[in-house]
Amino acid sequence: MLTNRSKLVVKKEMTFWEKIYLPAIISGIAITIKHLFRKGATVRYPEKKREISDVWRGQHVLKRDANGAERCTACGLCAVACPAEAITMVAAERKKGEEKLYREEKYASNYEINMLRCIFCGLCEEACPKEAIFLTDRMVSTDYERDGFMYGKDKLVESVDKRIDVSKRQTSAVLEFKKLKQFSHNK
Ligand code: SF4
Ligand code: SF4
Repeated sequence: MLTNRSKLVVKKEMTFWEKIYLPAIISGIAITIKHLFRKGATVRYPEKKREISDVWRGQHVLKRDANGAERCTACGLCAVACPAEAITMVAAERKKGEEKLYREEKYASNYEINMLRCIFCGLCEEACPKEAIFLTDRMVSTDYERDGFMYGKDKLVESVDKRIDVSKRQTSAVLEFKKLKQFSHNK
């Protein structure tokens, strides 16, 4: 014995009631029944859906401007801000005649978000100077293959005739700020 910290463990003899296990079983059932009548802490998704906040961060949208042109100018700030390195893009130059498709002279010919990497922090939304990317209240769909979570422009850019309203995500302070036309991104 090197120290005095060791203890001699004695195997305690079980009592009669412990040996028949009945009191333990009854007390276990009583605890289960008690919890049956309590309000559950979980929600039975997908039958029941939780109410979520207006600023809940779900699947991204790449917005179009009022004329239907893509707002993203492939500046890459969202990708730089992304802590999960989930965003990749390829920039391209707008050609003559494409003014209605892309708002700026440079646009993203390819834009991808890896939804398996994304942690829905919203930093891409914060970083974007063009108000082109927003997170929305939409859930990212489940999939059996990893490739299915690579969201390209086909899933990210909103359709011209089915716009996604993100106005509730913008606080009154942000809306006030947007009225200041001296900032080029507010024009
Ligand atoms: S929400 Fe966060 S993790 Fe997801 S793409 Fe945007 S910056 Fe990256
Ligand atoms: S979404 Fe915004 S930040 Fe990202 S590349 Fe496009 S314009 Fe730049």
